[in-house]
Amino acid sequence: MDTKKIEHFPPVVAVLGHVDHGKTTLLDAIRKTSIAEREHGGITQKIGASSVEIEHEGKKRWVTFIDTPGHEAFAKMRGRGAQTADIGLLIVSSVDGVMPQTKESISLLIASKIPFITVLTKSDSREKNPEKAKQQLIKEKVMLEGYGGDVPVIEVSAKENSNIKELLDLIILVNDLNPKAVEISPSSTLSAVVIESKQDPKAGAKATVVIKNGTISIRDDITTGQVSGRVRSLISDSGKQVQSATIGEAVEILGFDKAPNVGNTVYKGSEKPFDSAQGKQEEIKRILDGGELISLILVADTLGSLEAIIASLPPKINLISKKTGDITTADVLLAKSIGALVLGFNIKIKPDVAKLALMEKVLVKNYTIIYEMLDEISDVVEGKELSLLEEVYGTAKILATFPFDNQIVMGIKVLEGRVAKGDKVRIEREDKVIGEGHINSVRQAKEQKSKVETGQEAGIIVGPSLDFNIGDMVICHS
Ligand code: GDP
Repeated sequence: MDTKKIEHFPPVVAVLGHVDHGKTTLLDAIRKTSIAEREHGGITQKIGASSVEIEHEGKKRWVTFIDTPGHEAFAKMRGRGAQTADIGLLIVSSVDGVMPQTKESISLLIASKIPFITVLTKSDSREKNPEKAKQQLIKEKVMLEGYGGDVPVIEVSAKENSNIKELLDLIILVNDLNPKAVEISPSSTLSAVVIESKQDPKAGAKATVVIKNGTISIRDDITTGQVSGRVRSLISDSGKQVQSATIGEAVEILGFDKAPNVGNTVYKGSEKPFDSAQGKQEEIKRILDGGELISLILVADTLGSLEAIIASLPPKINLISKKTGDITTADVLLAKSIGALVLGFNIKIKPDVAKLALMEKVLVKNYTIIYEMLDEISDVVEGKELSLLEEVYGTAKILATFPFDNQIVMGIKVLEGRVAKGDKVRIEREDKVIGEGHINSVRQAKEQKSKVETGQEAGIIVGPSLDFNIGDMVICHS
């Protein structure tokens, strides 16, 4: 590719979806539409990514597809903070509809915040039911275009080559509508994400990277921070030796001392960004922020979902154990002993486990949508952080309510600590915050008080006036 002629940098596209839903067949069909393929009569793909040249609105454009990452590799990259792909393709068979790995892919795509296109495959099949698949997707919170959302959806048949060109046009359209946040240019600092890596007994370490910015050339000193080397040779997606590669291209690098990890970012040795002040600051912040806030025992149906969840966990999680299979009573007892939560994904909680959990007051919960699980974990972490920061002076229960002087008085009983005039308060109902305010007045019978203590009853007025119920809790805090 001649970089000087490029007006738009080629998007890198990741293809995710359930096994057998047609990813490989679709990529083959896409490669067959490539101009180069037509001109040269077939390209044998050599590495885990392939660039396709197409004509879009009279101009030649490129799109690079990463084919290795099923969602597991995608999750790994995300776990290491690498955003490899610019656009995702969510592949869903219009025959089978949403399946477990479709759900995982959706979670990963939503969490990665990249734009994605839903591709309903096998549109030639007589057993297809695209409408059903769409309804299932909507249920999984994929906001489809035409159904009130903005996620494009297209039906294709790789077998009959229908709508393949339209899909490529759609990818370009989505790319052009989502300009890159950072300035990218072939002369910028190199950053390339490792998508495949292995130690070849003869050739040494081989790593396939997708270039996100800058240019990599033969004899460049390169490093990931952990492993370094010097580029001995670069092999393009069509198996050719090349002198250099730039944004959007995938190349195999020979020259690392050791195989780097998938998901790591490759920089030029002379540019070493991890020595930068920003990198240091982030490192210091991580250490200062350290201290795990919640302990988790994770159990999932497949290794794939387990990896996907782990890769997206928020920081400050102490992962006690992770496995596939069932939650056992031993897990519940372990959780009890260390104050951990037991979370399952797509598993069944057996009655004896549920019973023990109830008895031991251990939270055991199963989820079927990854990002719902992740959201709830994040909420717990956030709540924990807040509760660590704040000091609770007292808690009280609302026993009655009555009007006084055009205001509503809460009749409370102090359960713990004290409740004082001027306190900041939070009203909670079943651990949910209903409202927040200040205590403007504390009275016992007709007498104004500055505070009431454990066991005492009082009438308090909170401003601004809040919508509370009898039975709600009043938390006085710093
Ligand atoms: P992957 O596991 O997602 O990569 O799925 P594959 O590409 O291997 O396809 C799985 C099966 O679906 C194969 O038997 C394909 O022949 C079939 N398949 C793929 N695309 C189509 C299509 O467009 N139409 C039909 N009828 N079958 C397809």
